[in-house]
Amino acid sequence: MKHSIFSKIFGSYVLIVFLLSALILFFSFRVFKNFYISSITDELKLLGNALEPEVTPLLEEKRFQALDALVKDSGSKIKTRITVIDPQGAVLADSQSDPKLMENHRNRPEIIQALTNGVGSFSRYSTTIKQDMLYVALPVRKDEKTIAIVRLSVLLKDLHNLLSILQKEIFKSALIIMLICLIGAFIFLKSLTRPIKKLNSGLQKVASGDFETKVFLKGKDEVKQLADSFNLMTDQIKSLFAELSFQKENLNSIFTSIKEGFAVLDEKGRIILSNESFKKIAQNKLIDEKLYWEVIRDLKFGELVKTVRENKRNLSEELELNGKFYLCSATFLTLRDQIVIVFSDITETKNMEKIKRDFVVNVSHELRTPLTAIKGFAETLEEEGDENAKTYAEVIKRNTDRLINIVQDLLLLSELEEKGSKLESEDVNLKHLADNVIRIFKSRLTEKGLDFQLNVENGLPVIKGDLFRLEQMLINLLDNAVKYTEKGKIVLALKQKNKTVEIIVEDTGIGIPQEHLKRIFERFYVVDKSRSKKLGGTGLGLSIVKHIVLSHKGTIVVESSLAKGTTFTIMLPC
Ligand code: ADP
Repeated sequence: MKHSIFSKIFGSYVLIVFLLSALILFFSFRVFKNFYISSITDELKLLGNALEPEVTPLLEEKRFQALDALVKDSGSKIKTRITVIDPQGAVLADSQSDPKLMENHRNRPEIIQALTNGVGSFSRYSTTIKQDMLYVALPVRKDEKTIAIVRLSVLLKDLHNLLSILQKEIFKSALIIMLICLIGAFIFLKSLTRPIKKLNSGLQKVASGDFETKVFLKGKDEVKQLADSFNLMTDQIKSLFAELSFQKENLNSIFTSIKEGFAVLDEKGRIILSNESFKKIAQNKLIDEKLYWEVIRDLKFGELVKTVRENKRNLSEELELNGKFYLCSATFLTLRDQIVIVFSDITETKNMEKIKRDFVVNVSHELRTPLTAIKGFAETLEEEGDENAKTYAEVIKRNTDRLINIVQDLLLLSELEEKGSKLESEDVNLKHLADNVIRIFKSRLTEKGLDFQLNVENGLPVIKGDLFRLEQMLINLLDNAVKYTEKGKIVLALKQKNKTVEIIVEDTGIGIPQEHLKRIFERFYVVDKSRSKKLGGTGLGLSIVKHIVLSHKGTIVVESSLAKGTTFTIMLPC
């Protein structure tokens, strides 16, 4: 109630009514008092004027005793004190006291006024009578000369009594009017604030979640319109809320039922949201609000989250947790500074891959011995057989070589896939490596009449890597360059660029058509099948190269133009 609209308006209203009543009381009282005094003054003036003809002859003849008797007689008749004073202030006659005993009246304000203005009036306390009095003084003139002053005075006691009665009456009336006003204001304000109170309690119910609340008001005023809008609003909120709850339930059921582990980390790395699958992966039910590294204690996972937070970009990584394999994707939400983690179980795919790989390795191993035997017999037949047999033996030997190459490449690829990032890491001097590899190709280069150039930048740093694999990579690239170049030259360049070492293999060969460039790193992908077969290609060389580059955390790009040449650029971190 203390700060309600009602108390504010009603309080101000009470204050205004009180102030107005007090002002009206005060001014009406003053007006009445002044009016009363001025009417008595006028009456006294008339009485004074009436006395003048009787007083004048007595004054002229200096019959002061007779004057005093006249004054006393007239004063008692008209119930008014009459005093006659000479121009010097000496009292000549007085209706209520002995004039001889009275002090000089020259300085009385009404006397001074009468002498200067012709008439004087003043209300003050009388020292003679010891009461408040109203005085009116009039000069008595003879031949333009003031010979005395007649002063008439009445007690103001009656006026005071009258005024106090009047005051009480006015006060009573004012009180009644005020009461009526206040009761009226109270009823009016109550009727004004009641609907507002209703609306307010309705709003409080809505705020506490009760959207069934309605406010019904009578009338057609603005508050009624407000109540109607309120009812409309609660209807809309209700339907919106229902829709939202439905959507939330839907999302929740999808969220909990998906078999991918799902979690959201806040800016401090706390798990603020997670589904059942994530809890299963973490093998912990109570993970909400815990830090991610407390829940999943895995070095690779920790690094993944850290990198995503630092670089503010999305990353995916394969993880092994409790004997299962997962593809963990971390997505950075820039607006909220949060990370969304999704764990997809890839154990089955991984197992299938392993079965496939094992199968390829086993088949390759099993094929190697019979293929070597066939090649041996074909060679013997080539040497010892007749001309016809020699031709067949040569075809058998060429195809056996191709099969042996395929088997070797398949074994290499399987081995690379198996080892993945667990390659040997040692210091590799790329210049020494290049010198060794070039030696393998010397005779083929001379045979084909191709120029070769090795460009090594001064101060080329030593890199960390698997020497055997890097050698394999260079062999495959140079082998292709020699295979697919008929004239011109081959350049091998080694340079340092920022924090990487660039290995560039450039040739002036047949080139690769643009539409094939994207696919040449796929297994068994060849541009021209017959040419590749003729040249002993397997279609696996570049897949092996790409695997080796990726396992060294490097990148490979290829540029080529038909009949002009091809350039492979490999960037490895150093
Ligand atoms: P292949 O054993 O057939 O050479 P690769 O995987 O090494 O298989 O290469 C895939 C295909 O890419 C090749 O068949 C060939 O068409 C093309 N290619 C690779 N290197 C070059 C090159 N330096 N010049 C022209 N074509 C090339």
